[in-house]
Amino acid sequence: MSPSALVTGITGQDGSYLTELLLAKGYEVHGVIRRASTFNTDRIDHLYADPHQGPKLQLHYGDLQDSGGLRRILDQVAPDEVYNLGAQSHVRVSFDQPEFTAEVVGLGCLRLLEALRSYQDASKRKVRFYQAGSSEMFGSAKPRQNEDTRFQPRSPYACAKVYAHYQVVNYRESYGLFACNGILFNHESPRRGETFVTRKITRAATRIKLGLQHKLYLGNLDAKRDWGFAGDYVEAMWRMLQQDHPDDYVVATGTALTIRQFLALVFEQLDLDWKEWVEIDPRYFRPAEVDHLEGDAAKSKAILGWEAGTDIKTLAAMMVDGDMELARREAVLKNAGHAETPRGGF
Ligand code: NAP
Ligand code: GDP
Repeated sequence: MSPSALVTGITGQDGSYLTELLLAKGYEVHGVIRRASTFNTDRIDHLYADPHQGPKLQLHYGDLQDSGGLRRILDQVAPDEVYNLGAQSHVRVSFDQPEFTAEVVGLGCLRLLEALRSYQDASKRKVRFYQAGSSEMFGSAKPRQNEDTRFQPRSPYACAKVYAHYQVVNYRESYGLFACNGILFNHESPRRGETFVTRKITRAATRIKLGLQHKLYLGNLDAKRDWGFAGDYVEAMWRMLQQDHPDDYVVATGTALTIRQFLALVFEQLDLDWKEWVEIDPRYFRPAEVDHLEGDAAKSKAILGWEAGTDIKTLAAMMVDGDMELARREAVLKNAGHAETPRGGF
């Protein structure tokens, strides 16, 4: 029998890479998707086979705000592992929607833990649980941050992730649940949401190169982030659940760059000078900023045997390549008389 995994947030960046990894390892993968008025499965469409051809990837309608539905999905799927990746994952948006963010990110994790506890009691099966924690929880703590660093969250998103983190520890200690917190530093890819700063930059730079865009508006360029490749980071998630004991792990590259440095890296790859194209728009400033995230992943290396395998230059090149392909397609449409698509967002 192949092992089975349930993934919330399967339509997101990490969900898609994790699903690829699990399918390659022979898992049967089940994903929780939200009903939307438009299709929202772009990132996993290449993995989805007709259910009549085999049950390798199955999708279930559900939501982290709906406890009963989560419990029913556990009954249907009987998973060996659960990965909780679902979230309102944008820090800037969390200032506009603090209550919703807390509902999905904080209480959503609690709902899933409760559903799991009830499912385990009823089925007498043991299930392993992964929680997608974030370096944002460290907030204003001094770098380099590791598992012993005190959380000093600086946004509604980070506060909600801290709540979820401690609930995971609580379920581990109170009920013996095999539950792990991954504390992942920023990780990116050609599939990163377009309103996160790296993707916003690679998308804009490639469009500028092809004459499809003429300005890139950004906020604070001085913040430093430790950016890794999402494809590498999902391997660390999986390894956490293969250990003898559950624990919490920082996952990071150990190197941080400012937004300004990342801008220069990307624009240089396209023979452009970023200073000619970028303008600061205070609309993108946050009520409170996280200045410097830089992780120390020594524990992940020692126990999981995990190390980041992709440096920032390679990551940027990968993203530029992906976005250049999109920009080229857009240019073809534009030359054929279709209107230009204006792009905005945080
Ligand atoms: P993402 O691309 O924004 O994906 C988020 C996923 O959550 C999407 O599948 C989304 O579904 C789903 N979702 C949103 N609200 C939900 C709800 N109420 N119920 C169920 N699902 C819901 O995020 P990501 O970059 O893949 O990140 C994955 C996880 O890791 C998130 O929890 C994020 O906070 C955390 N994290 C990410 C990073 C990073 O740098 N990427 C770093 C640390 C931690 P729709 O497609 O329907 O919107
Ligand atoms: P975060 O680390 O999860 O908040 O990831 P983001 O990619 O959203 O932001 C990383 C950093 O880039 C933060 O310090 C932001 O303030 C900064 N930043 C500067 N300009 C922008 C922008 O236009 N959009 C976003 N998303 N971030 C920006």
